[in-house]
Amino acid sequence: MAKRGGQGSYVFFSQAMAEKERSKLAISNQLRDALRNHELLLHYQPQYRVDNGALSGIEALLRWQRSDGTMVPPGEFIPIAEETSLIQDIGYWVMKTACAQYSFWLNQGYKIPHLSVNVSARQFHTAGFVQQVEYILRDTGVPPSRLLLEITESVVLENRLESIARMHQLKELGILLSIDDFGTGYSSLAYLRDLPADEVKLDRSFIHTLVHSEQDRAIVKAILDLARVFRFTVTAEGVEEQEQLDILKHLGCQHYQGFLTSRPLPVKALESLLTPLPAS
Ligand code: C2E
Ligand code: MG
Ligand code: MG
Ligand code: MG
Repeated sequence: MAKRGGQGSYVFFSQAMAEKERSKLAISNQLRDALRNHELLLHYQPQYRVDNGALSGIEALLRWQRSDGTMVPPGEFIPIAEETSLIQDIGYWVMKTACAQYSFWLNQGYKIPHLSVNVSARQFHTAGFVQQVEYILRDTGVPPSRLLLEITESVVLENRLESIARMHQLKELGILLSIDDFGTGYSSLAYLRDLPADEVKLDRSFIHTLVHSEQDRAIVKAILDLARVFRFTVTAEGVEEQEQLDILKHLGCQHYQGFLTSRPLPVKALESLLTPLPAS
């Protein structure tokens, strides 16, 4: 009986695996078309200063709106794109589109201090990546010091020396670098010292438990203290409650983003939120 049960679950397991592979393949095929058919778009989430609530920047976040109107969240397709070379085309499109939009906003008189763009692992390690960024900056006219590229902590940890070398190359363009989802990696905090980064983004998981977990408050405090010594700016992500923001303020966190103040917004919605157009 046990044997039969074991076999049964093996069959079930391999069917489930095959099903998953098929669905991944389907998504990656649809995604290739999505890029061609302009089904990809960017939303922008405002970031604010913790001390006075002023806008400090925006983060471009990728969205896939299928032709039937359904929205596919990035967590469902970016990891699949990452397994193929598709992520390179998508990543290039994101960077170019975000920079063009940002440049347009700056020319229109919108006061947006910086633009953050997420970079995937594979994109970051692509041979011509630094040249791509350089080309896009020149093409769109975005001042390098206003562009902040976000690389997740896990990407840096996986391939530390190579990543640090690549980060130095990017810094030579005059851009800013951010370590995204910080605190979720397995490394000691000391490695922060060697990173040529300008910002760390505190992962949402810590913010979520900030109010009720003394341990997480201690972790956040330790990260903030260390960041201060190493001169990193800290941005907290996923701030949903005033109480979380109060604690972050008390601990000396500089910037935040989160549903408390604003969700990621489509272009038009962001424009109506900001409206700092030349005085009429
Ligand atoms: P991320 O870069 O850490 O982005 C922050 C995520 O947190 C976004 O999810 C945002 O919508 C969400 N968020 C912001 N504030 C709150 C909040 O108060 N509560 C909650 N529950 N969530 C909040 P999103 O847009 O679904 O993106 C998920 C992840 O997908 C991103 O995490 C990033 O890793 C990746 N991603 C998004 N766009 C791109 C892109 O253009 N390129 C690459 N490589 N990755 C991207
Ligand atoms: Mg990010
Ligand atoms: Mg993040
Ligand atoms: Mg995150």
